Amino acid sequence: MDYDVLILGGGIIGCAVAYELSKYSLNIALIEKEYDIADEVSMVNSAIVYDGVENPDTLMSKLEVIGNSMFEEITEKFNVPFKRCGSYMIAQSDKQVIKIEELYEKAIKRGINEIEIVEGKYVYEVETNLNIPIKKALYSHNTGVVAPYDLAIAYGEVAFDNGVNFKLEEEVIDIKKILTGYKIVTNKNKFTSKTVINTTPGIHYNIDKNEKQSSENDINILNSMLINKGNLFNSKKIIFAQNNKGEIINSLNNIQGSSLFTAESSTSFNLHEMKKVLNGFVEGIEDKDIKTFFQAKYYKDPIIIDDSLIDKGYIKISGKHYAEVTMTPSIAKMVCETLVGNLKAKLKKDFTDKRRDIFRFRELSNEEKNEIIKVDKKYGKVICICQIVTEGEIIDAIRRPLGARTVEGVRRRTGVTFGKCDGAYCFDRIVSILARETNKGMNDIVKSSKGSFVVKGRIKEFNEM
Ligand SMILES: Cc1cc2nc3c(=O)[nH]c(=O)nc-3n(C[C@H](O)[C@H](O)[C@H](O)COP(=O)(O)OP(=O)(O)OC[C@H]3O[C@@H](n4cnc5c(N)ncnc54)[C@H](O)[C@@H]3O)c2cc1C
Repeated sequence: MDYDVLILGGGIIGCAVAYELSKYSLNIALIEKEYDIADEVSMVNSAIVYDGVENPDTLMSKLEVIGNSMFEEITEKFNVPFKRCGSYMIAQSDKQVIKIEELYEKAIKRGINEIEIVEGKYVYEVETNLNIPIKKALYSHNTGVVAPYDLAIAYGEVAFDNGVNFKLEEEVIDIKKILTGYKIVTNKNKFTSKTVINTTPGIHYNIDKNEKQSSENDINILNSMLINKGNLFNSKKIIFAQNNKGEIINSLNNIQGSSLFTAESSTSFNLHEMKKVLNGFVEGIEDKDIKTFFQAKYYKDPIIIDDSLIDKGYIKISGKHYAEVTMTPSIAKMVCETLVGNLKAKLKKDFTDKRRDIFRFRELSNEEKNEIIKVDKKYGKVICICQIVTEGEIIDAIRRPLGARTVEGVRRRTGVTFGKCDGAYCFDRIVSILARETNKGMNDIVKSSKGSFVVKGRIKEFNEM
């Protein structure tokens, strides 16, 4: 057998499972079809760490609660930005008051603490920008915001450092059961493994043929707007509300220092419609404050951890859910415990539960800045002036384990181009550093996926230049 465990898919779930399993003496590989880990759905995200209060499904709510409780420990250990900022779920009418009171009762029965119903006038006193009637609000201390890509990448990096073999740019074509385990066929190789954990979406392989496809019928559109103001609301809490059309609105201050405003609806809004929803919710936003506007599908499919074939060594994690990042730590732990019990694996003595040091220049004190520049002058050269990201950080993002190979990869690891100018000033310089560090020509650098070349071609070819 080539491996004890093969993990299919390098989204946040695949990387978190790889991390949990890398604590054990097992020969593990992870196969991901893209250039980078966490490149598909894991990239589209509102960054909220939910608290299980909002979830009508008891099992999903439980996964949220357990996952949520693990965030401090994980993010501190991995040096991933996380703020337990808390949230208000606003009730604007008597009908909505009844709804939040029911949610409150249900949450208490589910064992969720640190929540309370507060009077509207209290929220008004704090949130002076809010442009909606507030009768009451359900306050939760438990909700938070995280840097979700950073969390996925951190899981991957620590798993890599503990011996997990990451096979990027390799697509799984089929999985077949053989006598002693599984045969996995990719577009490049064939592998055998005692066990398989499949985190890829859909039913494409022989092994899954009898499985029912999850319904995917509860899909809405999440209309999202990034606003160049880090303090849309004074208290910096997440605000959940529902407008008179039943559209769920929320707003938060993200880790990058801007605000994210979203409206969940059955249709995609155009910019004019979105601005109307925004202005009906918060005061004082001008056109110049709007950074970007985008839409994504929003799922409420329950997550299914199917271990019905565990005696044969196969686990499939399927379903798409708006709180999957929150659930990730709990899902990974559950899957790991099930598999490890089945394989009777032992804990590794030399497991290192630490991410390699990462320096975010903008967060350092002046003393620390001078110290790091003394060690490496490239930390003294600011490339992204909006987000204050230095050449040293970009090079580190490329040279780290599972380092960035695309502009998007650098962006997610360092925060470059997230600022006001949207990369107008630094984009070319990032491409040039990527080309130099990966020993490629500028023409070969891609934005994110295969073929997404940044430079279309040279206007004039001078071979000698
Ligand atoms: C609009 C939106 C907002 C969200 N907001 C939040 C939020 O605020 N809070 C929260 O907790 N969660 C949120 N989520 C949920 C969360 O971002 C995703 O559901 C989660 O990241 C999905 O992770 P995953 O690993 O299951 O899937 P994916 O990221 O899709 O990972 C699957 C991986 O498998 C790879 N793959 C597929 N097929 C193959 C193949 N044949 N061979 C090899 N590799 C393959 C893919 O390339 C991909 O990398 C949001 C989701 C959406 C859509």
